[in-house]
Amino acid sequence: AKKHGKDRYEVFEPDMQRAFQASIELEADLRRAVVRHEFELRYQPIVNLTSGEITGVEALIRWAHPTRGEVAPMDFIPLAEETGMIVPIGEWVLREACSRVAAWNARRSGQPITVSVNLSAVQLEQPALPLIVQSALTSSGLPADRLILELTESLLVDHRPATLTRLTEIKALGVRLAIDDFGTGYSSLAYLRRFPVDIIKIDKSFVDDVVDEPTAAALTHGIIQLGRALQLSTIAEGIEHEGQLDSLADGNCELGQGYYFAEPLTRAALDELLFPADPA
Ligand code: C2E
Ligand code: CA
Ligand code: CA
Ligand code: CA
Repeated sequence: AKKHGKDRYEVFEPDMQRAFQASIELEADLRRAVVRHEFELRYQPIVNLTSGEITGVEALIRWAHPTRGEVAPMDFIPLAEETGMIVPIGEWVLREACSRVAAWNARRSGQPITVSVNLSAVQLEQPALPLIVQSALTSSGLPADRLILELTESLLVDHRPATLTRLTEIKALGVRLAIDDFGTGYSSLAYLRRFPVDIIKIDKSFVDDVVDEPTAAALTHGIIQLGRALQLSTIAEGIEHEGQLDSLADGNCELGQGYYFAEPLTRAALDELLFPADPA
């Protein structure tokens, strides 16, 4: 038994040690990344499903790690939330996204585009958040109604009492609020009454099955109708195929995003999309 125990020790301990070591290294790397500004934003177009026009972009963060290359948000946002580093990182995202989109709008004719920024629950715990949002708008010159803040269902479900106050203060600035990943949480409908939301983002898991599964189609179309009844816009996420677009457009979904239209683009690529160079 003792030998068995020792074998197990030898099998498991180095793995755990390695995982622990890796997370310590990641945390040190992340602290350095904040100081050295190693983050970049990608911009994914949000499209009117009837006209095909780009009405906005969602800002999505990437970490340009000096040795590991590009790190996806799901590989560092949870650690950034645990350590509180999401607060300075999230402020940077907000300011950068507002400045960039204000600059694009200044060069565009026609309807100015919106920018959607993802907020973490940890950011909403900061009493200064409404002031930071206001400052990002003022210093960029972006009109408040061109900014959309995306909140996840889990954030609203496990909310602290201050969350509602904070969201009300932010709404008073004229900013709009979207519920991200709608339909994946536990009590989607209850908080539609409680929180001042403007937009529902239909989760990709519904869109994935909208063509092949009658249940997914019925739920998706039901969410769109619910949105309309409550005078909310609906954005379908993760549209990858024409069939999905057709089903959503048939159901009168207003807006959508996904690889079918464009993946999250670098600043230069979005620039090219918005302002195509004259053909030679
Ligand atoms: P999300 O807010 O639900 O963003 C949508 C994710 O789906 C993005 O992944 C996007 O690249 C991906 N996506 C878009 N269209 C398609 C499609 O047609 N097919 C597929 N398979 N995927 C698609 P990404 O960029 O890796 O971001 C993952 C998550 O990380 C986001 O999910 C969001 O929760 C979080 N995140 C990203 N940027 C930020 C940020 O600046 N702050 C915070 N707090 N969270 C962020
Ligand atoms: Ca989002
Ligand atoms: Ca989402
Ligand atoms: Ca998601």
